[in-house]
Amino acid sequence: MKLNLRYYGDSILRKTALRIDEITPEIVQLSQDMIETMNDYQAVGLAAPQIGCLLRIYVFRDFHSISEDNYHFGPPEIAINPEISSPSKEMEEMVEGCLSLPDLHVTVKRPKKIHIRYQDIHGNWEESDLEGFIARVNMHENDHLNGVLHIDRTSSKERKAVQPLLQKIKHLHTKKKP
Ligand code: ZN
Repeated sequence: MKLNLRYYGDSILRKTALRIDEITPEIVQLSQDMIETMNDYQAVGLAAPQIGCLLRIYVFRDFHSISEDNYHFGPPEIAINPEISSPSKEMEEMVEGCLSLPDLHVTVKRPKKIHIRYQDIHGNWEESDLEGFIARVNMHENDHLNGVLHIDRTSSKERKAVQPLLQKIKHLHTKKKP
């Protein structure tokens, strides 16, 4: 089932998500619905707060660009209770988008490499060293679990520049529907 997105201005996006102690059938269903939603939006990541659920889970996938109009996605993956460590000193800048802030793209500087561990849908801990795009996706989604958005991590100059667009998103999506 495709889930409804929460947008910038919704207070749930600023809250800290709670640890998942037990992977119940509801969590399994949630992860499947999140993957379906991510696929539907042609996105590379989706965190639970973005669909109104304050739990430490996100889904993500890799992205390979072959040419400008030829690209493919990696298989969807699920991360539960993620923990990021050992960020590299080397930083990298990349333009990021977010489903909760439609049409808004900002340049974000993040570590190039990280170490990550998280539980898969069976509760088993997986560990890996990530680099580049896939590391960035995980950092972006993990931020959502702590109430942090990409606009918080861009330059103050860029944050100022996107203010009108932020107000527009807030107005468009938090307006009460008749
Ligand atoms: Zn996002």
